[in-house]
Amino acid sequence: MSLPGHTVETPAAPPDARTHLLNGGSVARYRATLADGVDRIAKRVADADRPFTGVTPAELAPRITGVDLDRPLGDAGAALDELEQVYLRDAVWFHHPRYLAHLNCPVVIPALLGEAVLTAVNSSLDTWDQSAGATLVERRLIDWTAARIGLGPAADGVFTSGGSQSNLQALLLAREEACRDATGPEARRDLLPRLRVITSAAGHFSVQKSAKLLGLAPDAVLTVPTDAQRRMIPAAVRRQIERCRREGLVVMAVVATAGTTDFGSIDPLADIAALCAAAGVWLHVDAAYGCGLLVSPTRRHLLDGIERADSVTVDYHKSFFQPVSSSAVLVRDRRTLRHATYHADYLNPARMVEQRIPNQVDKSLQTTRRFDALKLWLTLRVMGPDGVGALFDEVIERAAGAWELISEDPRFEVVTRSPLSTVVFRYLPTGPNRHHADGANLHAREALAASGAALVASTTVDGRHFLKFTLLNPETTLDDVGHVLELVAQYAGRYVHERTTADLACQVS
Ligand SMILES: *Cc1c(COP(=O)(O)O)cnc(C)c1O
Repeated sequence: MSLPGHTVETPAAPPDARTHLLNGGSVARYRATLADGVDRIAKRVADADRPFTGVTPAELAPRITGVDLDRPLGDAGAALDELEQVYLRDAVWFHHPRYLAHLNCPVVIPALLGEAVLTAVNSSLDTWDQSAGATLVERRLIDWTAARIGLGPAADGVFTSGGSQSNLQALLLAREEACRDATGPEARRDLLPRLRVITSAAGHFSVQKSAKLLGLAPDAVLTVPTDAQRRMIPAAVRRQIERCRREGLVVMAVVATAGTTDFGSIDPLADIAALCAAAGVWLHVDAAYGCGLLVSPTRRHLLDGIERADSVTVDYHKSFFQPVSSSAVLVRDRRTLRHATYHADYLNPARMVEQRIPNQVDKSLQTTRRFDALKLWLTLRVMGPDGVGALFDEVIERAAGAWELISEDPRFEVVTRSPLSTVVFRYLPTGPNRHHADGANLHAREALAASGAALVASTTVDGRHFLKFTLLNPETTLDDVGHVLELVAQYAGRYVHERTTADLACQVS
């Protein structure tokens, strides 16, 4: 019988398990293991002759469910061999010049070095006592980004897991600022369902998700129409604000987008900022995609007006060529970040604020948090901002070339020209076959993905199915674009041909 306080003797961990812990005694294994992993990735990257193999979930699933997780292989080499089968052989490669689908960038090597360093040291950015210099590096990059935006001397912010989290946090701050005068639970209960957020029809869906998470009414997000270039119409925003006032509703934020996900369109930031200032409404600018313009040597002016935002989302993992995750939310007035502050006795007691101990958890929705800022730090220290911006400029120019190529091709219809790097277009069958357009474009995208020769995205425009190129790879040439267009035209044309033959057969029988 065991007595209270009596500890049962635990056998020592097998000596082999201990050798896997990184410490002074295992650095040889650490070096060899990582070097082996890097070697294999380098080989895969060099050998990728297409962005994807076209593998289906049904083909891949048995290889993963077939792995017995309770029977270890014992060494990293064997695990890497297995990984070739379950993952690497059929991965999607964003560095391939014919990967043209989503906002995934090829990554820069200094950032990969940062990734290796930050995971090995494993600092956690919640508190100073878990991070030391890492906290100061992150703060310096926040200040650098805020200065690039032009947010002024009271600006601050924090790194996040991505644009969705940045938008959520910005809207949390906006909600709390809107509720500032609703002191007491009753006033708050009365106000919450009357809060509204205005964004454009081309805004990101994370705005809707955030509204839901923040306990707003199901119809809290008002989407205003866009102009022909898919930019938010300021007069429509003003009308919505006035209508809300008349109806006793409170606009807690306008979300403008600097780089919409589909069209790369940039809302008229200066005009929207002016009317938000006049109405006393929080302006959030979602620059998850367009933030690369902050370092563009030639196109920074496209973001004019962003400096008047109350909060800004930037995704370095989109247009700064950083690996996932690397993102931040910035605010004009650092005091607003207090709405994300909670003091836990064990972690960040209030007295630490007086002692001026920098605890980033006071500003973050996360607690334990990666030192993602290190990737950007090493990128800037090796390449400099102009280097990153020049890469982004190059893909913007390439997208303009692609737009021209498609607009001159009678087989295709192209939507508005993006100031960034997306091209939305569709294959348009002629005459009586036009009603097969939706099916043809959907089919072309699927057939292309199944072949793995290229990856493109699809979206809808005014209810019709379109295809989308998102260019983020400076290695993608106009030849690549032309080649992918030929493939699209072949698949779509064959689809239309088969359908019209089937239509005829129906008519005959
Ligand atoms: C990608 C994107 C987001 C979401 O960012 P994640 O990093 O994917 O969470 C938000 N807004 C816009 C405009 C985006 O393009």
